[in-house]
Amino acid sequence: MKLNKHKPAQLTEMEFGGILGATCIPVFLPLTVLYLLSVCRTPSGALLQWPPPLPHPAFLWDPLAAVIITGWIGLQSALYQFPVGRVSEGLALRDGTRLKYQINGFHALCMTAMLLGLCVSLGMPLGYLFDLILPLAVCAICVSYLLALYLYIGSFWAPAHALALGGNTGNPLYDFFIGRELNPRIGSFDLKFFCELRPGLIGWVVLNMAMMMKEVELRDSPSLAMLLVNGFQLLYVMDALWNEEAVLTTMDIVHDGFGFMLAFGDLAWVPFTYGLQAMFLVVHPRSLSPPTVIGIILLNGLGYYIFRKSNSQKNQFRRDPNHRSVAHLETIATATGKRLLVSGWWGFVRHPNYLGDILMALAWSLPCGFSHILPYFYVIYFSILLVHREARDERQCRAKYGIAWDNYCRRVPYRIIPYIY
Ligand code: NDP
Repeated sequence: MKLNKHKPAQLTEMEFGGILGATCIPVFLPLTVLYLLSVCRTPSGALLQWPPPLPHPAFLWDPLAAVIITGWIGLQSALYQFPVGRVSEGLALRDGTRLKYQINGFHALCMTAMLLGLCVSLGMPLGYLFDLILPLAVCAICVSYLLALYLYIGSFWAPAHALALGGNTGNPLYDFFIGRELNPRIGSFDLKFFCELRPGLIGWVVLNMAMMMKEVELRDSPSLAMLLVNGFQLLYVMDALWNEEAVLTTMDIVHDGFGFMLAFGDLAWVPFTYGLQAMFLVVHPRSLSPPTVIGIILLNGLGYYIFRKSNSQKNQFRRDPNHRSVAHLETIATATGKRLLVSGWWGFVRHPNYLGDILMALAWSLPCGFSHILPYFYVIYFSILLVHREARDERQCRAKYGIAWDNYCRRVPYRIIPYIY
C-alpha cells in the first residue's frame, strides 16, 4: 500500500466482527467482568443461576474505589517515570524512526511490593479489596472508556504516519474500538507501553494478594490452593516485567493501535478476570492432596519452560540472528530480508509460546478442583483468544512474507498443539 505523509491510509478490512463487534464488545465485555465477579462471590458459584446474581446498583459504586483506582494509576505512572533501569529502542516505525522506552517494570513491581508490605505492616486491611471488588472494577472500566475516548480524539492531531494501519477505517465506532494511533504519547510518556504491563498486570497480583489476606481473615491461614494460584500468577507477572523489553516486538506494540480494545483489556479485563481463581477460592475453599499439588506444579513448570524458552529464542533471533544461542538454527529466507526459524522451538509448532501459555493457564485453574466451570473461565477464554490471535498473526505474516510463509507452514504444519492443531 502506498502511504502518503499527509493523508492517512484508509483500510476497509475490519477485524473482531467489524462494526457489529466494535459496537457489541465494549458493552458486552464490561458486563461480563461484573457478572463473573458477582458469580464468584455467590455460594453456588454457578455461571448459570436463576435468578442471575445481578449486583444491586448501590454495590457498584463506592468513592473509596475511585480514590484507590486513581491513586493506583498515579503511583504506577510515577514509578514508570522513575529514572531507573535502562532505555531501550522499539522496532523501526514506518517513517524509519525508533521510539525510546524506559524499561523499569520490574523495579516498579519491587517498589510496589515494598510499599504494599509497609502499608500492610502498618495495619492497612488489604483483604478489604475483596469486599470492594465490584466498585473497583466499575472504576477501572470507566477509566478505560475515558482513556479510549481521549485516545480517539487525540489521534486526530497525530501525523498520518503515526496512525496504525488497521485503525483507520473512517468508521468512528470501529476506530474508537480498535485504536487509531499506534504509539500515543504525552511527552515521553508512552501510554500504550505503560498500560500494557503496569497498572493492570501489577494490579492483578495485588488483587490476588488481597484475596489471600481475605482468606486468612476468614480461615486463619492461606490454603495450599490459594498459595499455588498466587505463586503461579506472580511468577507469570514477574516474568513479563523482567522481560519487559520483549513487549516492544509484540503485535500489540508493533501493529495494533491504542483504542478501547487494548485500554479495556489492560486496565479492566486482565486485573479483574485473570485472577478469578483466587477470588473463587475465598468463597469456595479447596483442599489438595500432595500428589495433586506436585502434578499441578509440574504442569505449570512445563508450560513456563516452553513459554519462556520459545519466546526468548525468537526475541534473541530477531535482535541478533548471529548470536551463538540461535546461530545454529535452520532458517528460511523471505523477500523482506528477515529470516524465519524452521528448527528449534519454532520448528516444533508455529506458536510454541502459545502452547506454553495455555498449559500454564490450565495449571492456574486446577487448584480449584472440578466442581465449577468458573475457575476455568481464564483457560477457556485464553485458548479462544490465542487461536484467534494466531489466525490474525498468520494473516499478517502471509501478507508480509508471502511464499516464504507458505513454505514455513509446509515445513511446520501444526499451529499450536503438535499433531492436533
Ligand atoms: P509472538 O511472540 O508469537 O510473535 C509473532 C511474530 O513472531 C510474528 O508476527 C512474526 O513477526 C514472528 N515469527 C513468527 N514465526 C516466526 C518464525 N518461525 N521465526 C521467526 N519469527 C517468527 O506474538 P504475541 O505477541 O502474540 O505473543 C507474545 C507472548 O505473549 C506469547 O507467549 C503469548 O502467549 C503471550 N500473550 C499473552 C497474553 C495474555 O493475555 N496473557 C495475550 C497475548 C499474548 P516478525 O517476523 O515480524 O518478527
